[in-house]
Amino acid sequence: MIHIIGGGLAGSEAAWQAASMGVRVTLHEMRPARATAVHKTDRLAELVCSNSFRGDKLDNAVGLLKEEMRRLGSLVMDAADRCRVPAGAALAVDREAFSAAVTGAITSHPLITVARDEVTRIPGDPAMFPLVIATGPLTSASLSDDVARFVGADHLYFYDAISPIVLAESIDRDTVFRASRWGRSLRGPDAAGPACGDDGGGDYLNCPLTREEYERFYDALVAAESATVHDFDTATFFEGCLPVEVMAHRGRDTLRFGPMKPVGLVDPRTGRTPYAVVQLRQDNLAGDHYSLVGFQTQLKWGEQARVLKMIPGLQAAEFVRFGMVHRNTYINGPRVLHETWQTRARPDLFFAGQISGVEGYVESAASGLIAGRNAALVSLGAPPVALPRTTAIGALAYYVSHAAPDGYQPTNITFGIMAPLERAPKRKVERKQAIAERALAALDDWMAVGA
Ligand SMILES: Cc1cc2nc3c(=O)[nH]c(=O)nc-3n(C[C@H](O)[C@H](O)[C@H](O)COP(=O)(O)OP(=O)(O)OC[C@H]3O[C@@H](n4cnc5c(N)ncnc54)[C@H](O)[C@@H]3O)c2cc1C
Repeated sequence: MIHIIGGGLAGSEAAWQAASMGVRVTLHEMRPARATAVHKTDRLAELVCSNSFRGDKLDNAVGLLKEEMRRLGSLVMDAADRCRVPAGAALAVDREAFSAAVTGAITSHPLITVARDEVTRIPGDPAMFPLVIATGPLTSASLSDDVARFVGADHLYFYDAISPIVLAESIDRDTVFRASRWGRSLRGPDAAGPACGDDGGGDYLNCPLTREEYERFYDALVAAESATVHDFDTATFFEGCLPVEVMAHRGRDTLRFGPMKPVGLVDPRTGRTPYAVVQLRQDNLAGDHYSLVGFQTQLKWGEQARVLKMIPGLQAAEFVRFGMVHRNTYINGPRVLHETWQTRARPDLFFAGQISGVEGYVESAASGLIAGRNAALVSLGAPPVALPRTTAIGALAYYVSHAAPDGYQPTNITFGIMAPLERAPKRKVERKQAIAERALAALDDWMAVGA
């Protein structure tokens, strides 16, 4: 018998997996007795925002993640496939039908009991373990406090302001220049990341703006449309992470003295300091992702793409992740978790879903899939398992448990966090295909040995 707290994407998938292994499950879900700021129904696996599960092809890391989940008997993927609506290369679903399908499958499973109660603390009763905590980004306040006590207050975050991330190869290298402010570079000759054609040394790629470009960008930014804010108001913003558009509304030059300040940056091609600068910072070890420094934003995603592409150097930018500001409760995975989603402090306690330090619907469900299986294994007296790191699911688990803990940020699955190929094809499309083929072969081998 295992207990799971939270009947969202991760908790529902965890319950399904454990029950499919013949283990009894009690799934605790606080809705409808206690609401969250964003859920609207009492259904399990409710999608709180978009109805998209993103790309569904193998040339896309989240497409690969989905395929692995399908092979592992995922309830979330089965329901999503059955409820899909036309969305080109993406998998989007009818949200009502999707959560109804998951709720129906869970509530009619003979080994699963759904208890509609809020769990306010990590239980003291040993009979409640193995336990999976999958209460999501909007974990109720009292349980959040207790989780903070368990993991250490420094290792639980409540609030997230995220800057957009772009694909390195989509940055126009003829326009940007590499430099650190005042030439203070941490970048030695062996530093990771692609060198820039006009590399003057330095840790940042800098997008220079003339006065005219800045004025045009500013006007577009203040006129752009913001996403609906669900669970906080503007008064709750910390000064240190104000959305860029909120800063812009304070005055025409505020950004030039904030995230777009040019001081200490000289464009080596002109020998001059630009009128304004947007700095791009390498965001992953592979050096294929760059984040826009200080550009946390809650503009609608379409608006972000439109307005940010006005920045010189980003005219053809491909966005790996859009900026967001929202309440987000998540632990510092690398300090708290093993690759099996067990906590380091207590092997019969697991975290899964967004609270474990992953980002996104599919990633949340994927972590629930493994946490549920492992909680079931622990209840059966068997050792828990980790998937090969060459799979997308394994790479996600490895990132959550091994990324640099300082300043830890939840991640989506990307090819950038997967182990590089030993002999990588030159063409991007072939590289992705080869990583996907390697992942699925590793997964099939892993499943064939009865893991
Ligand atoms: C505002 C917002 C918008 C987002 N939009 C997207 C998006 O468009 N696309 C995307 O891929 N990701 C999005 N995410 C990120 C993330 O993918 C989702 O939050 C996803 O639902 C996370 O899945 P989960 O299972 O971890 O949490 P959830 O799906 O939120 O499930 C957690 C469940 O736990 C329950 N619960 C909480 N506390 C308790 C308690 N103490 N006792 C019992 N039950 C409890 C909740 O009621 C909820 O049902 C968004 C997140 C937020 C906050």
